[in-house]
Amino acid sequence: MRPLIILGTGLAGYTLAREFRKLDAERPLWLITQDDGRSYSKPMLSNGLSKGKSADDLGMATAEAMAAQLNATIRTDVQVFAIDRAQRTITVGSEVVEYGDLVLAIGAAVFRPPLEGDGDDKVFSVNDLEDYARFRAALGEQGRRVLIIGGGLIGCEFANDLAASGYQVELVEPMGRPLPTLLPERASEAVASGLRSLGVNFHFAGVTAVNLAGDGVRATLSDGSTVDADLVLSAIGLRPRVELARAAGLAVERGIVTDRFLRTTDEHIYALGDCAEVEGKVLLYVLPLMAAARALAKTLAGEATQVAYPAMPVQIKTPVTPVVVAPVAPGVKGEWSVEADGNNVRAEFRNAEGQLVGFALTGSQATDMKVKAELARALPPILA
Ligand code: FAD
Repeated sequence: MRPLIILGTGLAGYTLAREFRKLDAERPLWLITQDDGRSYSKPMLSNGLSKGKSADDLGMATAEAMAAQLNATIRTDVQVFAIDRAQRTITVGSEVVEYGDLVLAIGAAVFRPPLEGDGDDKVFSVNDLEDYARFRAALGEQGRRVLIIGGGLIGCEFANDLAASGYQVELVEPMGRPLPTLLPERASEAVASGLRSLGVNFHFAGVTAVNLAGDGVRATLSDGSTVDADLVLSAIGLRPRVELARAAGLAVERGIVTDRFLRTTDEHIYALGDCAEVEGKVLLYVLPLMAAARALAKTLAGEATQVAYPAMPVQIKTPVTPVVVAPVAPGVKGEWSVEADGNNVRAEFRNAEGQLVGFALTGSQATDMKVKAELARALPPILA
């Protein structure tokens, strides 16, 4: 029997494998990954420092342990770079492997800004356990200065983690405030004020160049100013990995296009997690991939099941100013209404028909479970 092959051993790949094994203990199962196949929780990468966790502490199980647990063959440190849909084979390194069904769980890649200058070796990004290990090794002693490019979710989480751990953080964000695409202005102010209280310095401009200077770097910003730092963390965004699917002739938009069965435009190839665009939705969060994994496991075990996404508020790990946000879908028109008391903000976004379609909570509003639950219940599902 040809195996079910899952490409990728991130949260999407391993969650799917676990869910599938609950339903089918026998079918040959392979997982193939270009990393070392350790199981870990990616959200821990941006608060691991203040929790005192090294990369090895965050690795929960080795590929060998996962293979035993899942009754699976796991191939690590190999990149799959071609799919032959007619033969139903993939090229793994120099080997050609047959599949019955193939699942793409290949995640999203870091988008790096085009920067001038010779400081590239001092610019890091953290999107997996191996990146985290490299960044931690370069970070060095407390007190060193880290320039973070990007004040989105990942940039703000790292800013909190580093500043709370004794590092000097310079945060550069061109859109004028932290979390500009997720929060209304007043809620961004609450986050900025919290991070400033930890010593984070904001620079509202773009970075145009990073040059080596002494043992560190000097960054030049779009307003002409310069910022010195020991190293740089680039956190300006992630893009679904679509190249493999595109080269195989599968439909690709912002992510690998799937229907609600997580099926791509090939009936034997599926996609989920950060690489997938499910019915037009690209959601780079854990809860959607969990829902997708449960549905796809059933489909692969013989019971065709569509994925449903309820409203899924996201908790942003900035403990100095806790944040919970139910992001407003791109392109939806409407208005924010905001109640604020210091860093405690409750903001509700209603569309033109007056329906609640997003919210943002900060400070004590974000930690009040009743408020969050009540608002989440009032939201429409993302995919009914
Ligand atoms: P990945 O974990 O990226 O896994 C992709 C896998 O595919 C890897 O094993 C890789 O080796 C493999 N691969 C890729 N290409 C190939 C190839 N060609 N051949 C073979 N293997 C390949 N979400 C939340 O909901 N809450 C949070 O608090 C949160 N915090 C985050 C903090 C950080 C720092 C980051 C970076 C993300 C965070 N997220 C958070 C997002 C969340 O972690 C991701 O949505 C999720 O982990 C994506 O899992 P994935 O399995 O789809 O992708």
